Amino acid sequence: MKLLTFKGGTHPPEKKELAKDKALLRMDPPQFVYVFLSNHAGAPAKPVVKENDTVKTGQIIGEPGGFISAYLHSPVTGVVRKIDKLYHPVQGRPMEAIVIERTSEDDWQFLDHSEWESLSKEQLLEVIKKAGIVGLGGAMFPTHVKLNPPAGKTIDTFIVNGAECEPYLTVDHRLMLEQAEDLVLGVKIVMKILGTKKAYIGVESNKMDAYEHLKRLCSDSSIEVVLLRTKYPQGAEKQLIYAITDRKVPVGGLPMDVGVVVQNVQTVIAIKRAVVDRKPLIERALTITGEAINNPMNVIARIGTTIQQLVDFAGGLKEDAEKLIMGGPMTGIAVNRLDLPILKGTSGITVLSHEAEPIKKPCIRCTKCVVSCPMGLQPYLLYLLGNKRKYDQAVEEGLMACIECGVCAYVCPSKIDHVRVIKLTKKVYQALRGGKK
Ligand code: SF4
Ligand code: SF4
Repeated sequence: MKLLTFKGGTHPPEKKELAKDKALLRMDPPQFVYVFLSNHAGAPAKPVVKENDTVKTGQIIGEPGGFISAYLHSPVTGVVRKIDKLYHPVQGRPMEAIVIERTSEDDWQFLDHSEWESLSKEQLLEVIKKAGIVGLGGAMFPTHVKLNPPAGKTIDTFIVNGAECEPYLTVDHRLMLEQAEDLVLGVKIVMKILGTKKAYIGVESNKMDAYEHLKRLCSDSSIEVVLLRTKYPQGAEKQLIYAITDRKVPVGGLPMDVGVVVQNVQTVIAIKRAVVDRKPLIERALTITGEAINNPMNVIARIGTTIQQLVDFAGGLKEDAEKLIMGGPMTGIAVNRLDLPILKGTSGITVLSHEAEPIKKPCIRCTKCVVSCPMGLQPYLLYLLGNKRKYDQAVEEGLMACIECGVCAYVCPSKIDHVRVIKLTKKVYQALRGGKK
């Protein structure tokens, strides 16, 4: 059987066996939820509630703060206790959050619109916007913006990213098995919005059960389920598009430049929930996993639930817990506190037992990072130029094409942390250029 893929990449231990056979469990809503106004890429939402307001589950509590922004909804029925600054795990600094105490069972405020078949493209986009849907694979880019390319960009292909190439994480795998009908209906809705005649669902070969299941469901439709080689970062947008369509997204460009839109599995399911079931985005599925978790599992939890509550639900931490990551080990963010709440983009909590600080050594010019870089870059050189503050030269060497996948650092025998320096170099370069790319 043909396995689609791209050049470069690596194959870290998958560790999916910890949770892949655990069916999704729904967690009871916690007594308190902590909902950041910055729960998406772009401008933070503006609060439309104040302290002591009562709120229903699904009620709007924040409105978009700009074009690239999203609505926020209450994940529970209760009372707004405070709006205060809390440490934001992605931004790495205190940012405003709405703290809501749950006071009763869910009393829902649903979205209000007609049957989806009767809605126009514009009306469907408005429903998705009103539902507060953002990229749930981690990017948190507002979905209504991504599904509405500017005039002049013709989209002919829609791709669902079912690769889930990050080690440890298994939630998309579970969703493709347990909520496949919703996923397929979500794909049809997106195809109507984009006006595409063709869609693909790309699944890595380590999820054959999900692949077979989806293939059966899509056998007589314009949705083609394709098998991808299990390799990291197979789920990175540019690598996924190349593997499936042979099209190369230009450096500095977007998938829409080659006629493609990509959405993560769970985002497409959220679209179905909003458009068909009238439910705004107040919860998400995620994996709680790692060798240092007592009972690794896949759960559905309300946005704003804390890591502590999730870890407790998964049986607590083992004594040798060393490293806590929001997300997976390749692209996740290491955090050192359990009181942080999950965001719309939190795909997992991974707790590792082994992470002794790697001992860094000088580069031995082995070229492993060069051979493995999926973007064809020279990571050792970008690292060197970044450290020497030679920003323009780093850009000439392809700095901006780096997708920050972490492959170079992973394969490096000298344990050089290229990605940290590359990210910093990009930031400094952009700041020096006045924010212009
Ligand atoms: S240089 Fe960037 S794109 Fe290449 S492997 Fe490193 S992080 Fe990934
Ligand atoms: S993998 Fe590490 S040691 Fe090898 S060339 Fe790249 S930076 Fe140098």
